[in-house]
Amino acid sequence: MRKPLIAANWKMNTTPSEAVDLVKQMLPALDAVSGVETLICPPFISLVAVSELLRQSRVMLGAQNAYYEEKGAFTGEVSPLMLSGLCRYVILGHSERRSLFGESSQVVNKKVKAAIKSGLKPILCVGESLTDNDGGRTESVVTAQLKESLDGILEAVGLVIAYEPVWSIGTGRAASGTQANSTIKMIRDVLATLIGWQTADATRILYGGSVNAANIAEFIEQPEIDGALVGGASLKAAEFVSIVKQAASIKGCN
Ligand code: PEP
Repeated sequence: MRKPLIAANWKMNTTPSEAVDLVKQMLPALDAVSGVETLICPPFISLVAVSELLRQSRVMLGAQNAYYEEKGAFTGEVSPLMLSGLCRYVILGHSERRSLFGESSQVVNKKVKAAIKSGLKPILCVGESLTDNDGGRTESVVTAQLKESLDGILEAVGLVIAYEPVWSIGTGRAASGTQANSTIKMIRDVLATLIGWQTADATRILYGGSVNAANIAEFIEQPEIDGALVGGASLKAAEFVSIVKQAASIKGCN
């Protein structure tokens, strides 16, 4: 049984004091929910303050990115080694990093390897553009992203995949539950060829893209969907709590 994971990606939102306030608003309600894993990924600058708040909590902490070297002359970068004492998870290969910061799947591959080496669980994001979706290339694009991003990775325990169609991120235009489910089934089949059936079967695959309190049920009800990566809606305390509660009541397990 794959325990569902609901992950909040706050992107470049919240100052450190706003991040602390937002966590304080959500935490009592999130802590009362069992049966799903809940993860908050605030900006780097708020990780330390948020980690203090989460110390006695079942809510976990993640980073939104990491570099692939451990240390050195890489101005402005943060390494998995630095994060490993603070965070359990790290989001890698988010479409905003791929499109706005030129991250190729080859770079993402180095990052995934470095994260695993430092004991972090990577949340590897894949997803097709609108043009590729319209052109019927979803399967080939997502398969290539998976193969390149996971190249040479044989030990992938703890790996999480987030399927995020680019056209649905921050647009209010979510995929349908059945659409997302069939692509995620395809992703699991590809994973099986890369890391073996057993690991693929145990790997959680999330849907991300305009998930909110009104549509989470449609996704979490699907057999292949193991949770959600939530952007905009995770910045609203009551809405994020509702998403987590619904996920737990539909698919929670211990
Ligand atoms: C995301 O940040 O990964 C995301 C899916 O954003 P949103 O929920 O706002 O579409």
